[in-house]
Amino acid sequence: MKRQMGVSTYVGYVKDNEIRVQSSSGGIFYLLSKYIILSMHGVVFGAQFDEKWNVEHGYCEKIEDVNNFMGSKYVQSDLKNVYIQTKDFLDQGRWVLFSGTPCQIYGLKAFLKDEYKTLLTMDFICHGVASPLTWEKYLREISKEKEISSVNFRDKTNGWRNFSLKINFSDGSSYKQDLNHDYYMRGYLANLFLRPSCYCCKFKTIERKADITLGDFWGIDNMPEVYNKEGVSVIFVHSELGQKVLQMIKGEVELWETNFWTAIDENSAFMQSAEKPAKREDFFRSIRENFSLVRSIGYCTSESLSTVVKKFLKKAIISIKILLRK
Ligand SMILES: Cc1cc2nc3c(=O)[nH]c(=O)nc-3n(C[C@H](O)[C@H](O)[C@H](O)COP(=O)(O)OP(=O)(O)OC[C@H]3O[C@@H](n4cnc5c(N)ncnc54)[C@H](O)[C@@H]3O)c2cc1C
Ligand code: SF4
Repeated sequence: MKRQMGVSTYVGYVKDNEIRVQSSSGGIFYLLSKYIILSMHGVVFGAQFDEKWNVEHGYCEKIEDVNNFMGSKYVQSDLKNVYIQTKDFLDQGRWVLFSGTPCQIYGLKAFLKDEYKTLLTMDFICHGVASPLTWEKYLREISKEKEISSVNFRDKTNGWRNFSLKINFSDGSSYKQDLNHDYYMRGYLANLFLRPSCYCCKFKTIERKADITLGDFWGIDNMPEVYNKEGVSVIFVHSELGQKVLQMIKGEVELWETNFWTAIDENSAFMQSAEKPAKREDFFRSIRENFSLVRSIGYCTSESLSTVVKKFLKKAIISIKILLRK
């Protein structure tokens, strides 16, 4: 299957409301999995939680098991031996959908060396992955020794844009805070505990190793007609195989073709690495010395008076310039 064709860009979402609610953005990953498992009798690889709520890669062959991979997990996933397993399935002539970060897809292709006609790969716009140690420590603090029964980084009860981190416990209680108030998400979005390679990522290119790149359509205000509160995806297709599979699932998707720049508006993570915060070293020193994780994040993400003043002055200068132009 010929690979290079330049990128084609779409926005859209799965028509099935329940799938969208379970997914992080528009649920396109589920439909790719459904196609590979039900139509091609293939295997799907993705990131899931293990029994201790660490994140690891695994595979499934049944459509009912795809839900383990659904939803973004903002933690580095342990790849275990999935590259070897992928090669085994491909060598048997099976279809495989491999999903992961752009660097994981790059690593897979480097490992396989040969091109396989039955391999479909999907990556996503990647803000970066967080240190598993930080996640483990956060869960220990938040659960207060209660048994966890489920974790959802992208609970959409308050809508797709204002998502929450929700943790359910076996005693029936639960924890839920939106992205601006949960301390883990605050630290993650402030880039405080990303893996070192995420601050100088080499994989955020327009052309990708993956056949399809997915993301959240955060620039939705530019195309308000496509809005729905359960989420909208951006879809970048990089290969003929990707295009062919998109045609196969199209009947189950509300889809609009758009241009690349509209699709990545408000989503600098497509091409830019996260900026390393000055307080990253302080943060890791603080947790190595066993200070509370939540307090360490609070301290390292609170803005100093000088930063607040600088931001205020910058805004004031912009407003004055706009007034002078009128
Ligand atoms: C760590 C991370 C950072 C992201 N950053 C951005 C961003 O900055 N901007 C943006 O627009 N979109 C980002 N996304 C992508 C976005 O959140 C959705 O995952 C994507 O739009 C696909 O959504 P979906 O509804 O089709 O499927 P979903 O059901 O959300 O699909 C989840 C997919 O993500 C994979 N996955 C989940 N967690 C991990 C992990 N830790 N490591 C590797 N693979 C994982 C699963 O294997 C599965 O393929 C990020 C996702 C992750 C996991
Ligand atoms: S930001 Fe780059 S290095 Fe970090 S996980 Fe994503 S693709 Fe990999």
